[in-house]
Amino acid sequence: MNRTIELVKTIYEIKQLESLDEPQIALAGRSNVGKSSLVNRLAGRKSLAKISSKPGKTRSLNYYRVNPDGFYLVDLPGYGYARCSQSEREKWGKLIEAYMTANPGLKAVVVLLDARLTPQKLDLELTSYLRGLGIPVIPVLTKSDKPKQRERAALQNQWKDILQQPRLPLLFSSKTGMGEDKLWNVLAEYAIN
Ligand code: GDP
Repeated sequence: MNRTIELVKTIYEIKQLESLDEPQIALAGRSNVGKSSLVNRLAGRKSLAKISSKPGKTRSLNYYRVNPDGFYLVDLPGYGYARCSQSEREKWGKLIEAYMTANPGLKAVVVLLDARLTPQKLDLELTSYLRGLGIPVIPVLTKSDKPKQRERAALQNQWKDILQQPRLPLLFSSKTGMGEDKLWNVLAEYAIN
């Protein structure tokens, strides 16, 4: 299927949140995990989402409409950027929390994990937070072109055990297109159920 992605709305504050009738799937991950690159890859465009030269710069929720399916991909601000202030961190924690709770249209959260790094504390905190809310997690290993082929399966199994997920995390690379079709299928599956 030929899909298009279009940025339709950007939100900076809790009061700008509104309920949507269409299903939503959120994208979350630590700063620099490759989230903008993933959005651009899915969109088939080089610069729809900003690829951050300065990690942690984006502080907004970006709503991308996916056509013809009619669901939203909601790009959440990257977390875990060490150099931002405590108050800034709290503000964006509250915005994400407000978005995650009281949002019946939210079908799942894609949690992006860097295939080059060992499991990070913040990733585990996010996944257990989502589990507590009963929101399905779709784990995706970004930059999967980096580990050697024989390392990838081990990495997937390691993450599967840590996250206590029924499925293996998906291997994805914005550079090579690895996992792109699979990710679309999983997104569509969650969005329509
Ligand atoms: P964001 O902060 O999560 O939006 O991350 P970006 O998309 O800006 O990417 C952060 C850095 O990782 C950039 O230097 C990208 O070129 C690099 N990167 C992103 N995706 C991939 C990938 O699939 N493979 C490789 N090798 N590098 C990637």
